[in-house]
Amino acid sequence: MDSKKKIGFNTICTHLGEVKDEQFKGAVSPLYMSTSYAFEGVDKKRYPRYFNTPNQEALCKKIAALEKGGSALIFGSGMAAISTSLFAFLQKGDHIVLQRTLYGGTANLVNEEFDKHGIDFSYVDEQTSKGFEDKIKPTTKVIYIETPSNPLMTITDIEQIATLAKQNNIITMIDNTFASPVNQNPIELGIDIVIHSATKYLGGHSDILAGAVIASEKNSNQIFQVAKNFGGSLSDFTVWMLERSIKTLGIRVKQQNKNALKLAKWLNTHKDIAMVYYPGLKSHPDHEIAKKQMKGYGGMLSFELKEGLDANMFQKELKLIKSSMSLAGVESTILSPTLTSHALLSEEERDLQGIKPGLLRFSVGIEEKEDLMNDIEQALEKIKIPELEH
Ligand SMILES: *Cc1c(COP(=O)(O)O)cnc(C)c1O
Repeated sequence: MDSKKKIGFNTICTHLGEVKDEQFKGAVSPLYMSTSYAFEGVDKKRYPRYFNTPNQEALCKKIAALEKGGSALIFGSGMAAISTSLFAFLQKGDHIVLQRTLYGGTANLVNEEFDKHGIDFSYVDEQTSKGFEDKIKPTTKVIYIETPSNPLMTITDIEQIATLAKQNNIITMIDNTFASPVNQNPIELGIDIVIHSATKYLGGHSDILAGAVIASEKNSNQIFQVAKNFGGSLSDFTVWMLERSIKTLGIRVKQQNKNALKLAKWLNTHKDIAMVYYPGLKSHPDHEIAKKQMKGYGGMLSFELKEGLDANMFQKELKLIKSSMSLAGVESTILSPTLTSHALLSEEERDLQGIKPGLLRFSVGIEEKEDLMNDIEQALEKIKIPELEH
């Protein structure tokens, strides 16, 4: 299908950019696994590391259309997409302003690698336009945000940050993984570069590791020049899997939005739950910003059990909701940030970020919401009964 015509989200998911099977007229894209193609001229050298195999090109078109961007690149992981994008726009002596509440891998990249390359960085604790503005220096080249953030689902005002950056001639990057293109299209709000861990919602079945970057042709090309040197491209088999997964992106995420909102409301009034963090709740401090910039509030939420209830025991008693380190699959999963994603932080640092020991991060799946509620209810009942027999 032609990307110029205006077509709806689910139609882009199912059709746009597919590789036509001219030979056998099959219904789905054929998979080209070749790493070697005949020479067709110096500017058309097909090679997987150049992001231009038939399947790669097709998927890039689809992903660019989903985020309403001019161009896209797909990578071997979310971190390959993030690191390549950052290094494409930052050189020795440059400065970057980043939100404090970042995906752990991104924070590690900045903290462990940037000094070696002479790149200066500042974190913003107060996620307002003023908070970011205060950190800008004459050498600032990039502002980097992530919203909703992990695990408390704080929301950064995308449009405000984009405006601030434009006034200062600074490139903006956003990690849009938690929202997915279904719920948030930052390019429409003025952001330059949108990044996804496609391992999460784009893949959606907990069986693909991939990343994606969406930007203008010009910015994509700048990222490509570094990407071909870093070599983080995605193998065509996984490209094909990802194309297949994205066909259901719209319907999966809409179901996850619905389930998460329902569960957040239910947990919020539950007698055994102390706190719920979900941008779709009116009680969430950033609800108004979320309402302004998101089409749906996403499938991620966090909650705390009432004092005296053990979050670890609770997790172990869940039967349907799986304990899992990752997120965004069709199946519901849960984890303790204190024991996993934020385990490397000190208790003080976690406390500063508002992460309580009993906090649980819940990636809501596509199951029937009643079954998820029943599972939570039975686990709560189990941990309230004193264990007598041994
Ligand atoms: C998982 C994740 C990443 C990293 O992606 P990988 O595919 O694991 O490299 C980056 N950002 C966010 C928000 C994530 O959840």
